[in-house]
Amino acid sequence: MTLSGIAETRPLRIVREPRVYLVGRQQVDPAAIERFLLDHGLSWQTDTEVGAEALAEMAGRVCYMSYGKGRKTNREFLEHLVQVGHGSVLEHAVWSLLLTGVSRSFTHELIRHRHFSYSQLSQRYVDESDSEFVEPEVVAGDPEMHRAWCEAVNAARAAYDRLVAGLEHHYASEPDRTLRRKLARQAARSVLPNATETRIFVTGNARALRHFIEMRGSEHADVEMRKVALAMLKILQAESPTLFGDYALTPLPDGSAATRTAHPKV
Ligand SMILES: Cc1cc2nc3c(=O)[nH]c(=O)nc-3n(C[C@H](O)[C@H](O)[C@H](O)COP(=O)(O)OP(=O)(O)OC[C@H]3O[C@@H](n4cnc5c(N)ncnc54)[C@H](O)[C@@H]3O)c2cc1C
Repeated sequence: MTLSGIAETRPLRIVREPRVYLVGRQQVDPAAIERFLLDHGLSWQTDTEVGAEALAEMAGRVCYMSYGKGRKTNREFLEHLVQVGHGSVLEHAVWSLLLTGVSRSFTHELIRHRHFSYSQLSQRYVDESDSEFVEPEVVAGDPEMHRAWCEAVNAARAAYDRLVAGLEHHYASEPDRTLRRKLARQAARSVLPNATETRIFVTGNARALRHFIEMRGSEHADVEMRKVALAMLKILQAESPTLFGDYALTPLPDGSAATRTAHPKV
C-alpha cells in the first residue's frame, strides 16, 4: 500500500489562540419562588438580574430562612459567603462553556479538575486527518523551533493517515462502516501529538470555577492553561462581578498575566 505523501500535500493548520464561548447560564423561575414565599408566609426580592447569583443567594438564605425586607443586598450576601469560606452555597451557581482551539495536552490537565462536567470531541469517531494543531507561542516565535515543530506534526499526520488506511484494510471484513472506521481511528490516534486541537464542553459551578481559575491562572500554571483560565475569568467577571470580582491580574515579565485572590479555595 503506497500511502506516504498524503499528509504532506495538505497545508498544516495551526492554532495559537484558544476560544472560550459562554454558552449556558441559569435562569430563575419567579413564579415558583413566589409560591415558596407565599406558602411560608415570607416576602423577599433579590436585587440581582443574574440567575446564578439569585439562585446562590436563595439557596444560602434557606440555611437560616433569612428572607424578608431590609436584608443584605445580593452582592453583600454573596461576598460575605466568599469571605467566610462558605463555598458550598456557590455550587448552586452554574455556567456552561465551550472551549475550542485547545490542545489535547490542555484537556488532559483540565480534566484533572473533578468537579466539572465534560463532553469532548471523540478521536475514535471523528476523523483527525485534517485536524488543526496548537503551537505554543514560544515555539512559533523561533523560526528553527517552528520548523522542527511543523516537521514533527507533519510526520505524525502522515503516520496517522497511513495507519487509518492500513487499519481499515485490516478490518475490511467488518460490515458496519461506522464500527470499521472507529476501530481504525481508535488505534491510529495513538500517533497523534499532544498538540492536536480539540473541543471540550465544560459545565461547572462557581466554587469549582474559582478553584480552577486560582490553580490554572497562577504564574506556575502551563501557559496554555493560564490563557484559558484568564479568558474564562474575563467572561465570568463580566457575567458575575459578585462571584468573580475579587480576582486581580498581575503582569508577568514575559508580557502575560496571572491572577490571584485574597479569598482562595472558598
Ligand atoms: C502548576 C501545576 C502543576 C501540576 N503538576 C502536576 C504533576 O506534575 N503531576 C500531576 O499528576 N498533577 C499535576 N498537577 C495537577 C494537580 O495535582 C491536580 O490534580 C489538579 O490541579 C486538580 O486540582 P485539585 O487536586 O485541587 O482537584 P479538583 O478536582 O479541582 O478538586 C477541587 C478540590 O476538591 C477537593 N477534592 C477533590 N477530589 C477529592 C478527593 N478525592 N478527596 C478529597 N478531596 C477532594 C480538594 O480539596 C480539591 O482541591 C499540577 C497542577 C498545577 C496547577
